[in-house]
Amino acid sequence: MRPQRKILIVVVDGLGDRAIRELDWKTPLQCANRPNLNWYAENGVNGLMDVIAPGVRPGSDTSHLAILGYDPYQVYTGRGPFEAAGIGLMGQKGDVAFRCNFATIDERGNIVDRRAGRIKQPETTELISSLSNLKIGDVEIIVKEATEHRAVLLLRGESLSPFVTDVDPHESSMIQECMPLVPEATKTAEIVNKFVEESRRILSTHPINLRRRKEGKPEANVILPRGAGTFPDIQSLEEKYGLSAACVAGVSLVKGICRICGMEVANVPGATGGIDTDMIAKAECVVRLLESKDLVLLNVKATDIASHDGDFRKKIEIIERVDSMIGYLRNSIPSETVVAILADHCSPIEVRDHSGDPVPVTIYCESGIRDTVEQFDEPSFLRGGLGRIRGKDLMPILLDKANRSKKFGA
Ligand code: ZN
Ligand code: ZN
Repeated sequence: MRPQRKILIVVVDGLGDRAIRELDWKTPLQCANRPNLNWYAENGVNGLMDVIAPGVRPGSDTSHLAILGYDPYQVYTGRGPFEAAGIGLMGQKGDVAFRCNFATIDERGNIVDRRAGRIKQPETTELISSLSNLKIGDVEIIVKEATEHRAVLLLRGESLSPFVTDVDPHESSMIQECMPLVPEATKTAEIVNKFVEESRRILSTHPINLRRRKEGKPEANVILPRGAGTFPDIQSLEEKYGLSAACVAGVSLVKGICRICGMEVANVPGATGGIDTDMIAKAECVVRLLESKDLVLLNVKATDIASHDGDFRKKIEIIERVDSMIGYLRNSIPSETVVAILADHCSPIEVRDHSGDPVPVTIYCESGIRDTVEQFDEPSFLRGGLGRIRGKDLMPILLDKANRSKKFGA
């Protein structure tokens, strides 16, 4: 009888880094006080992981897909559907989804503020409701407000394509016309352009905007779509591995990926996806979920945010908070749980963005063979017993340690 174990994957977003001059050419991990991470390194097996392939810079979406065992080159067309799923708007096969911003434009189409003064709910909820039940040609238009100035747009109809350009130029300049990237996407591009026009027509005279104008605030007078993608037709983790699975995350992109992979998505008050997130509340939720689920994925985003800000002191401080959370987990989860602690990509301070460096990964299992690594950091993991694996290798290794893998052959 092989005792089946549960699996916990802790993704510390953007954790891995490079050597920093101001830190005497050490990484933020090396400089952080991290007794609990070190405990897992000392008692686990350690290594480096090319999440997609060596040198490929993953987004948090493609990286999480790879970590869960999906091929992002097969299932990923754009970020839109994952953002939509993140706020609970699940599309169906053939739907094309976009992430959007409420923005302020002037009469000539110049973008004055691409976040419309960071307008948020409940104003965005009211603005969105004026756009509900729209239909353009034979295409159904579904829009929903997201966090702050963000929203999602979902197109439902025949022969739609995700291969269109962004309307949002990502900077303050002119609004861009949506263009097809392949001939089959002509219809979709036309629908998007008509939707943007409609949003402009309806929103510019909306009472909320008239009030904002009076108050001297930027009006949310247009919706700018970007990041088109189709909802992938993928097997759930249950179908793929026979695992019941759940996720605990603050950011809606990660929630959306997990929801599309068929995982239960927990709602944790205080899990903001920001620097101020309540990590212990998330860890408590993980402990509860592990009672009923076979696999739980926990994502902590704050490390990536500090990295994008280029703030290594902040990153060290956050790693120390992550370490306390890891300590809480270590004391609270069943000791036979298989635990993997890793990053979804490196986010070096010097880059202020994601890089293609391999990420640190440690896998702990009570009966696992230990290597000689004692510290949880990038240089130590260079000589770890796990060696160098790819993102797609992770799930098979964890399933095997959990005694849940299928035998190949007789
Ligand atoms: Zn990430
Ligand atoms: Zn990032």
